[in-house]
Amino acid sequence: MVVSVIQWFDADYRSDELALRKDIPNKVEWVRTIPFVILHAGCLGVFITGWSWTAVGAAVFLYFVRMFAVTGFFHRYFSHRTFSTSRFMQFVLAVWGGTCVQRGALWWAYTHRHHHQHSDEPVDKHSPLQHGFMWSHIGWITSAKNFPTDYSRIKDLAKFPELVFLNRFDVLVPVLFAVFLFFVGVGLNALFPSLGVTGGQMLVWGFFISTTVLFHGTACINSMAHVWGKRRYETGDDSRNSFILSLITLGEGWHNNHHMHMSTVRQGFYWWELDITFYLLKALSWTGLIWDLRPVPAAAYDPERQINPADTARRAGMVVEEVEAPSAPSAPIAAKP
Ligand SMILES: [Zn+2]
Ligand SMILES: [Zn+2]
Repeated sequence: MVVSVIQWFDADYRSDELALRKDIPNKVEWVRTIPFVILHAGCLGVFITGWSWTAVGAAVFLYFVRMFAVTGFFHRYFSHRTFSTSRFMQFVLAVWGGTCVQRGALWWAYTHRHHHQHSDEPVDKHSPLQHGFMWSHIGWITSAKNFPTDYSRIKDLAKFPELVFLNRFDVLVPVLFAVFLFFVGVGLNALFPSLGVTGGQMLVWGFFISTTVLFHGTACINSMAHVWGKRRYETGDDSRNSFILSLITLGEGWHNNHHMHMSTVRQGFYWWELDITFYLLKALSWTGLIWDLRPVPAAAYDPERQINPADTARRAGMVVEEVEAPSAPSAPIAAKP
């Protein structure tokens, strides 16, 4: 228990030996649930601070810019390296992602790569088929077994000391972010009192409420994207594609596409598969801050590699009929994005 408490402040404290201990049971460790309790309890602060349009707007805005950080940076950059960037920008992306309170980029990438290696097998850390909904949604994060970062499995990232620092002291960025939001509220209150926003409101709405919803939105991919939706590819696991999950997570709901071709920056393979993270990364690439976005491989569009190519063709066909394109292709499946 003492070790768990110290690890709130130094995540690598004795984690080497924890990483080597394969016999740690897969169980909820109650000390580790305390940060989640604090995060959720903080939302109740709304009964003290009240609300204002500015505070609610900040919560919504921060949900989307931080969901983009989870999907675009923690997932598509650090976990899968689907585009390139500079070392400085890489650090910025890690700090930006750190405000999401989902631990460090290196822990996130390590656990996620493990998921792809063992997807829906008994050792998968958050398979809903193996361990049930609650475990795959939130329980797995509280287990001591899943706490350490095994740096030997992410050597491409562990060679950067600044990233290891952020990962080791993963509480630093969230605390600074919460304090920053509080003082933004104090400043707005002093400069624009007519907005009715306070430091407390910015803390409750911008940090606690926004972060709690962000956590559950992200966790839906672990708990539901292997249960809910359709499958286009035979991936050896039960990953699925879902439009609703893609709306919540800015494109991560095309999870079956992703499990099939995990090294492409894009997860919605067809134009109707909304993938806002990809659109934003594409826009970011025009600034020159990121580059070398890995494209969807041609094999992804091969009907013979799809479980139900007629379904994809029907969707493309429906679209062709709706717009009554005079020169609609005879093979609608060729309607690539
Ligand atoms: Zn998955
Ligand atoms: Zn992935």
